[in-house]
Amino acid sequence: MAIVHEFNYFKPSSIDEAIELLNEYGAKARVLSGGTDLVVRIKDGFETPDAVIDIKGLEELKTLEFKDNKLIVGSLVTFNELIDNETVKEKFPLLWESAKTVASMGIRNRATMAGNICSAVPSLDSGPALLLYEATVVVKGKDGERRIPIEEWFLGPRKTALKEGELVEYIEIPLPQKKHAGCYVKLGRYNGEDLAQVGVGVLALSGNEYRVAFCAVGPKPTRAKKIESLLNGKELSDSLIEEAKKLVEEEISPITDIRATKEYRMHMAKVMLDRALKAAVGRLNGKGPDYGTRLI
Ligand SMILES: Cc1cc2nc3c(=O)[nH]c(=O)nc-3n(C[C@H](O)[C@H](O)[C@H](O)COP(=O)(O)OP(=O)(O)OC[C@H]3O[C@@H](n4cnc5c(N)ncnc54)[C@H](O)[C@@H]3O)c2cc1C
Repeated sequence: MAIVHEFNYFKPSSIDEAIELLNEYGAKARVLSGGTDLVVRIKDGFETPDAVIDIKGLEELKTLEFKDNKLIVGSLVTFNELIDNETVKEKFPLLWESAKTVASMGIRNRATMAGNICSAVPSLDSGPALLLYEATVVVKGKDGERRIPIEEWFLGPRKTALKEGELVEYIEIPLPQKKHAGCYVKLGRYNGEDLAQVGVGVLALSGNEYRVAFCAVGPKPTRAKKIESLLNGKELSDSLIEEAKKLVEEEISPITDIRATKEYRMHMAKVMLDRALKAAVGRLNGKGPDYGTRLI
């Protein structure tokens, strides 16, 4: 389907020029990264910007490096670049595993993680991993940089803490200072280009510390703090998992939509939490399935 909406297209040659354009057009400006979300929305008439600001030429946004115990993911880094990066696979395996579940090879070649969090759809696959690694989003506007903890980033469906006139420069992900392992389980209707019906992430750290997050089962991806409190300090056991599963109903608020009913989502979230906990703890202990293995 062709794009029928008319807009001004800009390809700035610096971040400052992009910010000037964003401020000039205000609410009628849209940043274009991979375009896998934005272009579809313009085609479908959900977005009618006056200005599309294509940042793909900005080399400084393509950084992907591990420095001072932090992974810096520039806003133009694609999911396939994350997957192909050995440091990501070795040090941030939960992020790697989540990236592998996004869409298809073709989409992942263009789609960026920054675009993913800016789209802020409830099902976004990078949400749980970024929440569990306690990432920070670094944005820039005409008054300089702001650092936004990922916990404060998602405000609701398609709503984020990004203000008019700002763009995301990079996402900073600290390496957990304890031995850790993770697991991301995604339920879709089929393997490939489908959004999550339910997504569950677990990060297990040595000393019986656990972090748990969900996506696609509420207005925004969220940490499950009650489940974490229950688990923390305890050895994982079948009875503890059963107790954790009972708390799922207090943590998530799934809806019925074209992809699943709320009852199915609730049921599967419990099944997936069980599998993700066992896999994450298994991996922490040098066992468990290889990263990238489908568990559902
Ligand atoms: C067929 C298909 C399958 C998909 N499957 C999945 C899936 O399995 N899992 C999943 O999570 N998503 C999926 N998506 C959604 C989409 O691919 C992702 O959200 C992707 O990561 C968006 O990144 P992008 O670079 O293409 O963003 P764009 O489309 O360029 O932008 C998305 C939004 O973010 C804004 N934006 C982008 N970059 C910046 C920036 N640096 N600063 C400020 N604002 C910015 C744009 O203005 C726009 O509003 C799918 C999409 C399609 C078309």
